[in-house]
Amino acid sequence: MTQVKRNPAVVIIGAGMTGILMAIKLRQAGITDIVVLEKKGSVGGTWRENTYPGAACDVPAHMYTYSFEPNPNWSRFFAHGPEIKQYFEHVADKYEVKRDIRFNEAVTDAHYANGKWTVKTSQQQTYIADFIVCATGILHHPQFPDIPGLADFKGTTFHTAQWNHDVDISASTRVGVIGTGSTAAQAIPELINTGAKVSVFQRTPQWLMHLPDFTFSKTSRKLMARFPIITKIHRNTGKFFLEHFFTKAVTGHFIQKHVLNFLCKANLRLSIQDQTLREKLRPHYQVGCKRVIINTTFYKAIQKPNAELITEAIERITATGIITKDGKHHDLDVLVLSTGFNAFNFMRPMNLIGRNNLHIDKAWAHKIKAYRSMLLSDYPNFFLMLGPNTPIGNFSVIAMSEVQTDYVIKLIDKWREHQFDEFEAKQQAIDDFNAYVKEGLKGTSWVGGCQSWYLDADGDPILWPYTWQRWVDEMKQPQMEHLNTRSF
Ligand code: NAP
Repeated sequence: MTQVKRNPAVVIIGAGMTGILMAIKLRQAGITDIVVLEKKGSVGGTWRENTYPGAACDVPAHMYTYSFEPNPNWSRFFAHGPEIKQYFEHVADKYEVKRDIRFNEAVTDAHYANGKWTVKTSQQQTYIADFIVCATGILHHPQFPDIPGLADFKGTTFHTAQWNHDVDISASTRVGVIGTGSTAAQAIPELINTGAKVSVFQRTPQWLMHLPDFTFSKTSRKLMARFPIITKIHRNTGKFFLEHFFTKAVTGHFIQKHVLNFLCKANLRLSIQDQTLREKLRPHYQVGCKRVIINTTFYKAIQKPNAELITEAIERITATGIITKDGKHHDLDVLVLSTGFNAFNFMRPMNLIGRNNLHIDKAWAHKIKAYRSMLLSDYPNFFLMLGPNTPIGNFSVIAMSEVQTDYVIKLIDKWREHQFDEFEAKQQAIDDFNAYVKEGLKGTSWVGGCQSWYLDADGDPILWPYTWQRWVDEMKQPQMEHLNTRSF
């Protein structure tokens, strides 16, 4: 006799891009007992948090879109933050995801025992679940620099991910920006455009690539709405470029690597007229070692008279500015910390406690690892979305989440068909996966002589070193021999 399919209770943590997607896909798969726990009051994750001026996505907009919800109305080739946030709001409304979301409920604890997860939140609520999908994102813990005197500054200080919109930045403001990563490259030109005196404190220069950015005319948007094939062509072209050029360039493919190298070096040569400034901006590590910044505004802006690039190391921060190692004091009114994120916290500070009371801090004490980036040992029926070694280079994270979502649903489906009551990755499978990835990382640009947020404490990048297609192929079906399953 065939058994009726079970309907599991699923808790999704986070209502960002991945959490919204997961809620939609679970409902489409017939799973209705879903709760999405969101720590803040609206959807959008990173696009809700990062409101700094100039915030944009450097993945072409038509590719930074759910495959099932194309958007002919993107206003420009590289969409800006508010428009992306609006897109996620629109999708969450259209697919009625918000009915499943509990806003302003941060998960504080999740504990597995006797085949169930008990999830507790900041609102003192408790949820019992068969599965947890952890969709908390990667870059959401602002990293504050460990610079002496930071707390002494009497002007206004804030991190780019916590932009203080109450501060009026005008031509008379003296702004200091620490950091020159992807975020800074977008924010600095906007600050310079206000006419403020902007001092950029660069510790390490970055490679920048120029890709044309443009707005879509009203007519072209109308045409895309009328003929969805045009939107699809845009999407597929972006995907082709990222898959066959960009990701291959940084994972050791000879021709692509040299072309990317040439393009970044040519961009520096052609964009910066002054030779001294050009040399200050020239990185001395392999192109692609840090995430290549796709940007059309930074080089122009840094040459403006109200911009200053400071490459002397910072000695300390004072009440009124920054002292560099050469003894010079840089007077500032506002200090912007564009110093990135801690990429290794994942779901923490939440207390994730698996079998035998194993705390995630202990499980990950020596190394942050997961089988196929998603599954842990001792944490049954738990999925970590966009975990370590997901292909998070310069590809679209939406595409990654879609592949992982399908994988999750295939495993949950097996549970629904009573094939098991709980599953977890075998420790051996985690170790083997890690060794397999590590082997591939040897030939990549990420180990090309620089420091970056990609690297863990052992200097191993938390990225996927092989091709996109290989990842997609390997994620097609869960390999059950790599999992421990039990039935009660
Ligand atoms: P980041 O790339 O990690 O850059 C941090 C910057 O702060 C670096 O220049 C770093 O210098 C500097 N820094 C950190 N601590 C410092 C200290 N104590 N003293 C002086 N300088 C210090 O961070 P991010 O720019 O926020 O970007 C992080 C990631 O977010 C990106 O790589 C990307 O994945 C994502 N992002 C994406 C987009 C997009 O368009 N899709 C936009 C923004 C961000 P060093 O290089 O010397 O360490």
